[in-house]
Amino acid sequence: MVADNADVNSNQKNEQLDVLLSTQKVVKKALEKLGYPNEVYELLKEPVRMMTVRIPVRMDDDSIKIFTGYRAQHNDAVGPTKGGVRFHPAVSEKEVKALSIWMSLKAGIVDLPYGGGKGGIVCDPRDMSFRELEGVSRGYVRAISQIVGPTKDIPAPDVFTNSQIMAWMMDEYSRIDEFNNPGFITGKPLVLGGSHGRESATAKGVTICIEEAAKKKGIQIEGAKVVVQGFGNAGSFLAKFMHDKGATVVGISDAHGGLHDPDGLDIDYLLDRRDSFGTVTNLFKNTISNQELLELDCDILVPAAIENQITEENAAKIKASIVVEAANGPTTMEATRILSEKGILLVPDVLASAGGVTVSYFEWVQNNQGYYWTEEEVEEKLHKVIIKGFENVYRTAEMRRVDMRLAAYMVGVRKMAEASRFRGWI
Ligand code: GLU
Repeated sequence: MVADNADVNSNQKNEQLDVLLSTQKVVKKALEKLGYPNEVYELLKEPVRMMTVRIPVRMDDDSIKIFTGYRAQHNDAVGPTKGGVRFHPAVSEKEVKALSIWMSLKAGIVDLPYGGGKGGIVCDPRDMSFRELEGVSRGYVRAISQIVGPTKDIPAPDVFTNSQIMAWMMDEYSRIDEFNNPGFITGKPLVLGGSHGRESATAKGVTICIEEAAKKKGIQIEGAKVVVQGFGNAGSFLAKFMHDKGATVVGISDAHGGLHDPDGLDIDYLLDRRDSFGTVTNLFKNTISNQELLELDCDILVPAAIENQITEENAAKIKASIVVEAANGPTTMEATRILSEKGILLVPDVLASAGGVTVSYFEWVQNNQGYYWTEEEVEEKLHKVIIKGFENVYRTAEMRRVDMRLAAYMVGVRKMAEASRFRGWI
């Protein structure tokens, strides 16, 4: 049977939105550029370990609900795997696998002694009580306890998970392990061995990348027009940091829509009114769509929400000179090509959002040594790490004449490939 054109087009589109497939394509290209044989790609194209679990939880109405959870461990040649756990209705096996590969790349780019891991539970925390969330969190840890631990795989927060959820998970793991084990998980509250600066770390890392990218483009942060898509942990802190640095934040959004003011939004007011899931636009009448928001006139655009937001459909309409990806996977590979051809400086997710895992690493180090650093020490160390990662990626892009995403993958994949080789795996 011959597929008609409409079928071919929609298959192509689905392929472009398939985060695992598109990640694999760039990993393959990066390894080829670095001159590695195909078996290295065969090892790295999928996680070395993937666990699917069923988590029974007694709900508030006394019914038992069974949740599905995943934990992917991409590659543990360099060290234990590391990465967040997301609670979201759209979590899928494929997405978790792709996210674990991105975590490996992040660790490689900022030179942490980790491989990548990622977890997810299919659930909607917006519809769940605190008690139900605690049940899911503890049940997940019981289900994956054999493959995680401070020297095996270290979870952390991600979409819709926070320090409270990390605290429940740490408590559950410590009970199973029969001793207090703060290094099992990062992103904990300060009193339970969390690190100063962890909560705002992703946004700090993004801010440093914006500053570096702006220098390259000759743009002053003061007075620059910034649009931030997403008002969750990364987006809200980032809007605040940009506002405090004198930028004009002309647009922000959440899952329901966006707000736009060419003279600048009142960020402090919006932060005050946002709920814990980052929702604030529902309080306003004159909202715009998330798609309109991305196409606003601005200098710096920061997608800080979810995957596949900048696609071949809207990439040509992006007006910003710099796009810095605070979210994981917000731009498709096709859109990456369009943005690069337009001369837009794109700072890819695996570099721009690496601040979170960097301070998570600092938290783990502090837990291991039992000695804690000040906020200033954390910030100074984070700054050095991100600047070095940015420079490495930027230089690779220039020297190898590749786009910033491919350059980031080349930098990110190298250590993992080398370590796998030294261990005699390939
Ligand atoms: N979930 C965050 C990320 O995607 C942080 C992971 C971590 O802190 O380990 O980078």
